[in-house]
Amino acid sequence: MPCCSEVPGSGFMQRNRKRLLFSVGTGYGTMMMKGARPLPRVTVWNEYRHEQKDQAIREVYPKGIHDAIKQALEPQFEVHTATLDEAEHGLTEEVLSRTDVLTWWGHMAHEEVDDQVVERVHRRVLEGMGLLVLHSGHFSKIFKKLMGTSCNLKWREDGLNERLWVVNPGHPIAKGLPLWIDLPHEEAYGEFFDIPSPDELVFVSWFPGGEVFRSGAGFYRGRGRIFYFRPGHEAFPTYYHPEVKQVLVNACQWLAPTRGPEPAFGWSAPLETNAAK
Ligand code: ZN
Repeated sequence: MPCCSEVPGSGFMQRNRKRLLFSVGTGYGTMMMKGARPLPRVTVWNEYRHEQKDQAIREVYPKGIHDAIKQALEPQFEVHTATLDEAEHGLTEEVLSRTDVLTWWGHMAHEEVDDQVVERVHRRVLEGMGLLVLHSGHFSKIFKKLMGTSCNLKWREDGLNERLWVVNPGHPIAKGLPLWIDLPHEEAYGEFFDIPSPDELVFVSWFPGGEVFRSGAGFYRGRGRIFYFRPGHEAFPTYYHPEVKQVLVNACQWLAPTRGPEPAFGWSAPLETNAAK
C-alpha cells in the first residue's frame, strides 16, 4: 500500500471539520469563521534508495529521510509521503491535486523519475503548487526543468561544518531563526551554482574549505513558488536539527498557494465599453 494513501475523504473531513460544523451551525458558510483555515497539505517525496541500500545511512534515517521531514512538518501541516518505487512514484494526478506543497529529496536515481510525472509536477507548480527542493535535488529533472540551467555545482563530502548565514532577515522563511545556523557535519557545496539569479535569497553558506554557496533561494514560476534549500546530505542527521526543522516549516508556509486571482490569457474583451471604438 502506498504510504501516502489515506482513507478517501478522511483528510478533508479532518481539515474542514471546524468549517463544516460552523457552516451547519449558522448557515453563513466558511467566510466568517476566523482561524479555522484548513492546514496546508504537504506531500513529502523521497527517492528512498540510500536508506534501503546502505546500513550507515539507515542508522541515521531508519524510516527514511521522508519520515524525518514528515516529523519536522507535523503538526503544522497535513503531511503525506510518497517515494520513487510506488506506482507513478506516488505522485498521481489525484495526489498532486490535493497537494499544496511538494518537497523533493533525490540523489542517485534522478534519471528513473518518469518524464510524465515530471510534466505533471511542472504543470502543478505553474498552477500554484509550492515546491521545496532539498540538497541533491538540485540535479532533479523537475528542478532543472523549472530553472532552465544545468544546476551544477562543486561538492566535497568531508563532513566538516557548515555555517548558514541568514542574508534576508525580514523574509518569512527566516522567521524565528538566529543570525546564522551552524551544522556540525555536512557535505560542502560551492559556487558557482548554475541557477538563474534567485528572485529571493534567504541563506548563504560558508564552509571551512573556503567555499560559499547560495543555500536558500526562492523563485516564482507561473503562479507557483519554488524554494531550494541546500542542507540535507543523507549521511548526516541534518533533518533532526531544530533550526533546520524550523526552516522546513517556514519554507512550506511560504510556498503554500496564496489563492490569488485566476489569471486570464488570450483575447479578452475591453473592460471599458468605449475602448474598442
Ligand atoms: Zn549529498
